[in-house]
Amino acid sequence: MAYPTAPADFRPDTHLLQDKTILVTGAGDGIGRAAALAYAAHGATVILLGRTESKLEQVYDEIEAAGGPRPALVALDLASAQEDNVLTLAQGLAGEFPHLDGLLHNASILGERRPIESAGYLAWQEVMQVNVNAQFLLTRHLLPLLQAAPAASIVFTSSGVGRKGRAYWGAYAVSKFATEGLMQVLADELENTSSVRVNSLNPGATNTAMRRSAYPGEKPTDNPAPADIMAAYLYLMSDASRGITGQAFNAR
Ligand code: NDP
Repeated sequence: MAYPTAPADFRPDTHLLQDKTILVTGAGDGIGRAAALAYAAHGATVILLGRTESKLEQVYDEIEAAGGPRPALVALDLASAQEDNVLTLAQGLAGEFPHLDGLLHNASILGERRPIESAGYLAWQEVMQVNVNAQFLLTRHLLPLLQAAPAASIVFTSSGVGRKGRAYWGAYAVSKFATEGLMQVLADELENTSSVRVNSLNPGATNTAMRRSAYPGEKPTDNPAPADIMAAYLYLMSDASRGITGQAFNAR
């Protein structure tokens, strides 16, 4: 099946995301870090959410040093986040920002890679908590702030194994199927009732800590760096993708 990507003639200028506020989960490392830097470089105020505060602070400093809009920093461990933590976060953001223009669900964990017949329940639950339940909670409680924007964009991060199952990818693959399902259900609910668009995006093989741990035998530099796959991430957050909803994108 062919999945859409950013149009070949998409050329983001530096003001592409001017005046937009975008929350990125897992913004301290890997693809989330690159997305946060790219959004800020294109004018967005970025809300950096992640579990390791020191990494978020580094991204914050990089954005400030590059002259980008001052970001916001939210230290939250999605593995332990409960509904009241997310409610408090949503209330705090509503006090600080009139609306939210973008939400990039990027944080995920790989979990165990082993056959279902020997998978551990605790490890299974942790993957579901971080990769699915936390996304639901954030989406559920940030929707009012997203609805307050003229045309907000929610992007869920998928994977090849969330579109076709593969042996030994266990909870991670199942969590990505769930992510695609959440995207489709929400997109269908909002299509005719809201200006919020909802899509999924599969980055494809990218040189990050997650990829290196999933494929230890691979030469890391055979895969693109996160900064090199940002076109679709920018496109889906920009007004160029207004009206596009319910679609499963590939970054490349
Ligand atoms: P990384 O492991 O490199 O980065 C993941 C980020 O998510 C890190 O910043 C990490 O925080 C954060 N995170 C993990 N767990 C939590 C948590 N409990 N609470 C808050 N933040 C958390 O992964 P990638 O950058 O490679 O992956 C980004 C997305 O892309 C994921 O959804 C992944 O499934 C998807 N993907 C990646 C591919 C690839 O080849 N890289 C291929 C297909 C899909 P910390 O820095 O503290 O660890």
